[in-house]
Amino acid sequence: PVSIVAALAASARNGVLVKGGVYLEASANLNAIAFDKTGTLTAGRPTVVDITGLNGYSEEDLLARAAAMEAHSDHPIARAVVDCAQNRFIRLRSADDFQILPGRGATASFDGVQFWIGSQRYLEERELGTETVLQMISERANLGQTTVVVGDENGVCGIIAIEDTARDGAKDALRSLRKSGIRHLVMLTGDNKGTAQVIADQTEIDVVRAELLPEDKVAVIETLVATHEKVAMVGDGVNDAPAMGRATLGIAMGAVGSDVAIETADIALMTDDLSRLPWLVNHARRTLMVIRQNIGIALTIKVLFVLLTIMGYASLWAAIGADMGASLLVIFNGLLLMDGSEDD
Ligand code: ADP
Ligand code: MG
Repeated sequence: PVSIVAALAASARNGVLVKGGVYLEASANLNAIAFDKTGTLTAGRPTVVDITGLNGYSEEDLLARAAAMEAHSDHPIARAVVDCAQNRFIRLRSADDFQILPGRGATASFDGVQFWIGSQRYLEERELGTETVLQMISERANLGQTTVVVGDENGVCGIIAIEDTARDGAKDALRSLRKSGIRHLVMLTGDNKGTAQVIADQTEIDVVRAELLPEDKVAVIETLVATHEKVAMVGDGVNDAPAMGRATLGIAMGAVGSDVAIETADIALMTDDLSRLPWLVNHARRTLMVIRQNIGIALTIKVLFVLLTIMGYASLWAAIGADMGASLLVIFNGLLLMDGSEDD
């Protein structure tokens, strides 16, 4: 218990909130880690880089409608669109019948006409994708940009390109994890394949699973758990909280993460710093090693005294001294974990 408490305290001091000793044990034995893209591998602060009105819609009109539809969503993409409209002092169109479609986009109606905003996948589900629009989306995807499509019941009114850069240090963190022996690093995202691949190349992740709805992310985690047993899922809680719940270990980004994420997670990275992940793995492994050492120390002393007693060399006071000594040794060895700086 002393080792565990010391290890948990050191974790907290190093920006990692671990909700119990069992999660440290799980962190030491991971075989695979799945990462959400938006907000986890990327900074989660996307910005609008380009707006293209189509079919007679002006940039302003498009943005006014898009921002109105996004006003009630807390998705990072929604925030980017709303911020862009605000920066350009565009008055939002008044809308009603808001509906959020998790992992897809949102809908609302303007003067009784329904409009929607969402991913390429959602565009395809509505069967409104034309050759030109799909071409424009793939051009932007090759630049690592995510395209959000705006449309009505009959077609596409325009597209908004959004850029979210890979998080600083993500690549180094993934490298260290690989060096610690965790060989399967997977990206899960609801974004389209092209955009996902660009971020995957920047962060050197091996496997990309794109165009996933929140329930697909859960299914992917289930197959990962079936093949690799000990699997962690790192996410920001936006459309990935169920997947985090299903993994062996749910790890939330604590600062950009939603309340649900921090609530469902077993571990939270309080500073959103991915370099804390390899730290956590090292720290957890060292904790288990100290616990094993302690069990070893305690048992050796006990066995030694049983032998000394049988041979007639042990006195009562020596036995008491050895017992207390063993306890103190174990406690001091455990307290060494209080300082987590060695695990960097
Ligand atoms: P990720 O898995 O990368 O975190 P999400 O599952 O949250 O992404 O979203 C998947 C895709 O669905 C986004 O890339 C975006 O195109 C679209 N999307 C989701 N929510 C919204 C929204 N509120 N507005 C526009 N597009 C959205
Ligand atoms: Mg996300």
